Amino acid sequence: TLPQAEDHVDVLIVGAGPAGLMLANWLSRCDVKTRIVDKRGTKIFSGQADGLQCRTLEIFDSFDFADRAWRESNHMIEICLWNPDDQGRIRRSDRIPDTIPGISRFQQVVLHQGRIERFFLDAIKEHSDILVERGVLPTAFEFDATKADDFNDYPINVTVRSLSDEESTPQQQQQQQHHKSGDGKETTVSDGLFRSNLAADDTDDLIRSAESDPAVDRVESIKAKFLVGCDGAHSWVRRQLGYQLEGDSTDYIWGVLDIVPITDFPDIRQRCAIHSANAGSVMVIPRENKLVRLYIQLQATEHAQAGGKADRSWITPGIILQSAQKILHPYKLDYSYCDWWTAYQIGQRVGDQFSLKERVFLAGDAVHTHSPKAGQGMNVSMQDTYNLGWKLAHVVKGYSDPAILKTYQSERRKIAQDLIAFDHRFSRLFSGRPAKDIMDEEGVSMEEFKTAFEKGNEFASGIAVNYGSSIIVAKEGDSAKQGDGTDVASLDNTTCVISKPQVATKIDVGKRMPSFKVLNQSDARPYHFQELLKSNGRWRIVVFPGKLGLAPNMRRMQKLGARLESPDSFLHRYTPAHQPIDSVIEVLTVHAGPRESLELLDLPESFHPYSETMGWDYWKVFVDDQSYHEGHGQAYANYGIDPIQGASVILRPDQYVSWVGKVDDYEDMERFFSAFMRPRQLEKE
Ligand code: FAD
Repeated sequence: TLPQAEDHVDVLIVGAGPAGLMLANWLSRCDVKTRIVDKRGTKIFSGQADGLQCRTLEIFDSFDFADRAWRESNHMIEICLWNPDDQGRIRRSDRIPDTIPGISRFQQVVLHQGRIERFFLDAIKEHSDILVERGVLPTAFEFDATKADDFNDYPINVTVRSLSDEESTPQQQQQQQHHKSGDGKETTVSDGLFRSNLAADDTDDLIRSAESDPAVDRVESIKAKFLVGCDGAHSWVRRQLGYQLEGDSTDYIWGVLDIVPITDFPDIRQRCAIHSANAGSVMVIPRENKLVRLYIQLQATEHAQAGGKADRSWITPGIILQSAQKILHPYKLDYSYCDWWTAYQIGQRVGDQFSLKERVFLAGDAVHTHSPKAGQGMNVSMQDTYNLGWKLAHVVKGYSDPAILKTYQSERRKIAQDLIAFDHRFSRLFSGRPAKDIMDEEGVSMEEFKTAFEKGNEFASGIAVNYGSSIIVAKEGDSAKQGDGTDVASLDNTTCVISKPQVATKIDVGKRMPSFKVLNQSDARPYHFQELLKSNGRWRIVVFPGKLGLAPNMRRMQKLGARLESPDSFLHRYTPAHQPIDSVIEVLTVHAGPRESLELLDLPESFHPYSETMGWDYWKVFVDDQSYHEGHGQAYANYGIDPIQGASVILRPDQYVSWVGKVDDYEDMERFFSAFMRPRQLEKE
């Protein structure tokens, strides 16, 4: 059938789960022409993923909606470990903090995926006219490789079809589920099986039935500069590219039950990992609205032998409950309200490629699958597209050379591999039978489990992410390698800049910028530094000039200010003529105090830009000093910066540290940016 309509977009996103919505959200802030389609007629309303790690909350805060998640969610403060004693009775053996203290200004919380999708939808609506097009199914993909090198061209053509209501609502969802709770009472529950990968994927059936539908007015051709497959573990986009998920051949089947528990188990409102002597293990996740989630590994299947999918007909909420009752014995557990349940099958797998010629990308479950225990799936998926979004926007807008897009795969595939390795280790320890004594070699040592849990918590928080060196991360070490072995660090070797980490010993190049309280110079209000780093697409230079009461330090600021102000400075070169000077690269200052030692207007204009209509910008200069109500952030000490020498830091639009150097090292800053930024003359208006 010939398409009825044709459209041209910068970015087409397939799939409106957490990964797709994060990307649409980024692009909504950067004014990029975007469409996002999803084959399902509705968003998720309950169940599915639930854990939000602290890095994810920092990211939400940079988009101004962390407060909604923080308020509605259940906060996870403590983890209790339960193991069998000599008599085989489960006992609490340890308590550890859920989030490592001091690692972030947020702690892990839990809230179901449907609410998180709601926050994204509201944010996208507020900032753009991008609408999630539901019940829209891509049916064909063409890629014109001859157009791939011209980033103003549209090498991608995707045919999409609008589905009828019936087609976009899976059958399992149309039927109400009835089942008996543990005590035999009949209840009605929504289950997640229709979205689960234990149910056969219906994409091909939908395509077949849609193609035999004569209604041509529902067929459209979308030409795109970029296509991003955020379409989950069965990814249709991945299949078009012929890419594979590589990994383990063993799949585990997990039962998940969201209930309001009736129990005498004392730690039901704590996150618990419970190993029973012989009945298996359960992870208890206390949730919002009095709910508790139980995760139980029900069975392992050989993926190859099972032909990919295991029989799920035997799995019911009753089966999951009975397994939990056996593990928790002698404590009692039952419920009369079950909110949601599912069973799903997972292996630990990573995509072999994350992109086709930096024009088609894959993100989220489309390129990594693993167990739910550490609450990583949704977080890592959103962080994939948080990494990609600003890069796409900068290339579309002509600010950046497309070479920066290579860093998506080099940065995120490494994270996915680390995640799978972590999950592999952790799964064995979680699901294994506890060792009876040190001679019991088949059993799992509970000490080892505890240590792995504690270590795993840092990884799981998302804070430990440390991107390798590249054109946008100026550090020594293993250059990030592409899948094809080429080095992404050197777009042009002569412009490669290396940081001077000794000037800010506690700021790690490649990691996200840590946050401490600083005060606004002009009104004395305290801010967490990260609050100043909104995700609005801007690069940032953060100048730490040290004590400005010292004449040499003030002179350095005058010198740097003069360089930045000059019409041929890189600030001017990379900012389009009609845009404010801070719209591509923003300069922030944090001086070492005291606050009274400085009048804002004593600093050169680049540090507090002036506009004819808005006057001076009072939200660019901050101070590391005592506040009236919230103590002293000790930012210089916490960042490892000497208040006499100072330092400068370049931050990417996603808050990761690109470069650390001397306060007035204008030449290095310029060389850093010139490796990938495009001067405004070349910008496509
Ligand atoms: P998804 O959330 O899978 O989103 C993909 C989207 O793409 C969906 O909206 C889908 O309708 C759409 N789509 C798929 N194919 C097409 C197509 N051909 N055309 C158009 N649209 C398409 N993680 C946890 O951390 N804890 C949990 O308890 C947990 N439980 C889960 C239970 C189930 C049943 C499932 C399936 C996953 C669960 N996960 C859990 C994993 C977690 O939900 C995912 O890691 C996370 O949602 C990944 O986000 P995503 O955006 O990459 O993919």
